[in-house]
Amino acid sequence: MDSASTESCPMKGGDGLYSYTQNSLFQREGVENALLLINEAIAEKLHLEQIISSSPSKAFTVADLGCSVGPNSVIAVQNIIESVKLKYQSYGSHNQNDLEFQALFNDLVSNDFNTLFKFLPSDRQYFAAGVPGCFQGRLFPKSSLHFVHSSYALHWLLSTPKELMDKNSPAFNKGRIYYNNSAKEVGEAYSAQFAKDMESFLAARAEELVDGGLMALVLVCLPDDVPPSQSTASGITDLLEAALLDMAKEGLVSEDKVDSFNLPRYNPTPRELEGLIKINACFSIERMERIFPSKTKLAMASDNGVVISHLRAIWEGILKEHFGAEIIDELFGRLLRKLEESSPFTQRLKHEHMIELFVLLKRNMS
Ligand code: SAH
Repeated sequence: MDSASTESCPMKGGDGLYSYTQNSLFQREGVENALLLINEAIAEKLHLEQIISSSPSKAFTVADLGCSVGPNSVIAVQNIIESVKLKYQSYGSHNQNDLEFQALFNDLVSNDFNTLFKFLPSDRQYFAAGVPGCFQGRLFPKSSLHFVHSSYALHWLLSTPKELMDKNSPAFNKGRIYYNNSAKEVGEAYSAQFAKDMESFLAARAEELVDGGLMALVLVCLPDDVPPSQSTASGITDLLEAALLDMAKEGLVSEDKVDSFNLPRYNPTPRELEGLIKINACFSIERMERIFPSKTKLAMASDNGVVISHLRAIWEGILKEHFGAEIIDELFGRLLRKLEESSPFTQRLKHEHMIELFVLLKRNMS
């Protein structure tokens, strides 16, 4: 079995003030917006009879990759199962109870699966299991999955490119924690790492999905024509970087620690993503389109307190691991102040340079 290990950290577990559970409404909206597109995909593109007839157990298996602590993952999986059930019922002739469902929830080993399991409805009509491990490697047996879902997870890199920490490399990222405003070699190293991760991800899924199986992805991208330095997410990383550099100047963290920290995330452009999917050649792109945020989401995004709690749920783990727990409150306090002082950032958020993309892939016949 291939396996992969990661340097990234899961979201903040539990259900406390800064937990992902309490601070993932931005992602929830994207997941909910994709439900309709997924239902259409199941109705139009899933050849259920063919898939089931070749499966002796008559169990339809859904996997959610990068599920975190819920509830978004449970909402997505429940919708997929209901939608497949509806399709099955539409065949009329079958006994409705002879199709069973299995939901497999994957995330990193250190994810708080117990919190996720608490969101599983007690009257659920599917078997559920947690699957720990990196999704860039194999997680499931060959041809065992019928539907794969993954939202807001693929932009996490398996690891930060090593050359960012190499003083002799043109990609040495001194005094920076990301690739915007850095030397072009830094951006290239990030992009190459994303391509490698995506290649491994697709190769593993190509083995695990049955022929004709579907994969629905929701990810945050940069528009094809916007340079990384203008993206909203880059805007906020600029502020995080500035806060860390201030703390280094004041001796609250060491400069070396800042130099050796690089956020392991990368937002591809749709064109870049499409190119990587085509290289793999095991999947056809059935649909690729933007999901648009609602007015409520834009209003939430202009509330600095909400934005900071949301970022803390995502970043606290990785920052704590690198810099230590003792700087976290101070760092996010400074980040909030920087956000409040930065009106251009708020403007950028409103004009929304990041895009959310829905991608539907189908496993070609092998
Ligand atoms: N899908 C959920 C959670 C997204 S948060 C939602 O839409 O709300 C992203 C999740 O991806 C985190 O829980 C993180 O731990 C997980 N993740 C990041 N890299 C991963 C990897 N290589 N393998 C498995 N999970 C990963």
